[in-house]
Amino acid sequence: MSKFRLLMARQCGEKIAADRGFTTFPVDPFVIAAKEDILVEAKDPDRKGMSGCIVFNDDGVGIIYATDIRSEGFRRFTVAHELGHYFLEGHPEEILKAGPVHFSRAGFVQGSSSIEIEADHFASGLLMPTRLTREALYKAPIGLTGVQHLATAAEASLTAAAIRTAECAPYPVAIIVSEREQVSYGFMSEGFKKLGRLRFLRKGDGLPHTGTRDFNAVADNIRLGRSVCSQSTLAEWFGGSAGTILDEEVIGLGSYGYTLTVLSSEALADDPDEDENEEQDLIRSWTPKFR
Ligand SMILES: [Zn+2]
Repeated sequence: MSKFRLLMARQCGEKIAADRGFTTFPVDPFVIAAKEDILVEAKDPDRKGMSGCIVFNDDGVGIIYATDIRSEGFRRFTVAHELGHYFLEGHPEEILKAGPVHFSRAGFVQGSSSIEIEADHFASGLLMPTRLTREALYKAPIGLTGVQHLATAAEASLTAAAIRTAECAPYPVAIIVSEREQVSYGFMSEGFKKLGRLRFLRKGDGLPHTGTRDFNAVADNIRLGRSVCSQSTLAEWFGGSAGTILDEEVIGLGSYGYTLTVLSSEALADDPDEDENEEQDLIRSWTPKFR
């Protein structure tokens, strides 16, 4: 999977949003689909684990998203993902090789095919263009509050907003999604990576003995979307300095059974090298998950 292609996919999403007149949040993928005469429907896609599908036939193009998606943010992400298969170069051709219908698993699912990953990056760029995302983050306090502010402004899921925060934040922040005692995935902002020689968290890594692990021990915390804040150190999570204290903000993501952790600190300096040309590094920050 070429990093360049992921960057291109995200920039294509950003461009489509801008070209369709979305220069402020929220970007509406339903409106963009309607402008292309694409019919969008909620329907059971009749296959387990599928978020939705796109249909290319002689009468036109249709998008279906799964009826069991309860979160408005994830419905929008799913439709944006399917739009990726419509707008991204080579996708319709690739899909049509196998037939008129393509079933998707949107949302950065581990082990997905390359067109799935590209469509997720397209959706991420479409719903949360870099400029708008940075503006939203600048206006909000750092940490979980910033992520929530972005999610609200962009009408995105908390998880999608958290990933985008780690990519675009002009300050050190790391986000981790976990389930029970294990890491599902984690991302660090560029500023965070400069805090020391840190190890990347990978799927299946055990959680350190900090607030997140304690929180996950009580199933209701996740199911009821509870939120707690404690402190931990850089060393506990990633190696690096035990003297670097982090705020560890934790929130349950509801019935999906996952937990979001946001690690940040007001005391850490802003990233001094913040620079538009860091796009390539941002893309690199996605890759551990895709290996
Ligand atoms: Zn797909």
